[in-house]
Amino acid sequence: MLKENLTHVQENIAQACKNAGRKREEVTLVAVSKTKPVSMLQEIYNCGVRDFGENKVQEICDKREEMPKDMKWHMIGHLQRNKVKYIIGDVALIHSVDTYRLAEEINIQAKKIKRIVPVLIQVNIAGEATKFGISREETLQLVTEISKLDSLRIKGLMTIAPFVENPEENRAYFREIKELSVDIAAKNIDNVSMDILSMGMTGDYMVAIEEGATIVRVGTGIFGARNYNK
Ligand SMILES: *Cc1c(COP(=O)(O)O)cnc(C)c1O
Repeated sequence: MLKENLTHVQENIAQACKNAGRKREEVTLVAVSKTKPVSMLQEIYNCGVRDFGENKVQEICDKREEMPKDMKWHMIGHLQRNKVKYIIGDVALIHSVDTYRLAEEINIQAKKIKRIVPVLIQVNIAGEATKFGISREETLQLVTEISKLDSLRIKGLMTIAPFVENPEENRAYFREIKELSVDIAAKNIDNVSMDILSMGMTGDYMVAIEEGATIVRVGTGIFGARNYNK
């Protein structure tokens, strides 16, 4: 069942790449497994997926014990500074850096374990009050400040587009954040690359790929609807 879902998502990704004249290898699928049991993660892992996204530190800590060691954990949710230390050694990419203070803490913890940790800057592209992320206007400033910290590396931008019925409604937002990433890349800031653009979820990942996403984060489309009441 999950396997069929995954195949369907993979086919859509391939189609969107084709639509945009992009190579399939340019896009990484992150399977968003929040709230789902490890048995389901294992099923998707067995299909060859290695990139998994979680939005809670506690869930990453619980699940990593039971999952194979070659999994790549993506922290995609709001991250509290006091919890950075619990996941710093195990995350492949932190998508949700939106303040200098958080970056500073990541830098301190990364230094302790002698690693350089890759991060994305989360941009609130639609300016929604309910969402985390820095505003479009403040992004360059934040990137410039964080770039001076030596134990983390900015690899690009991440955004969560509004929830919409018709994914076309988000196309302009995806285009805007792509433009922002191109503008920042053109500044050639030391230690900053804009290679990654993490955008697109179950409802809109095809449009996101057409507009330049290099990571799509798909949960419901693979694992089914989430039940938060359990
Ligand atoms: C939950 C979540 C997703 C996946 O959402 P779906 O609509 O289930 O695909 C993607 N990105 C972030 C940041 C999330 O929190």
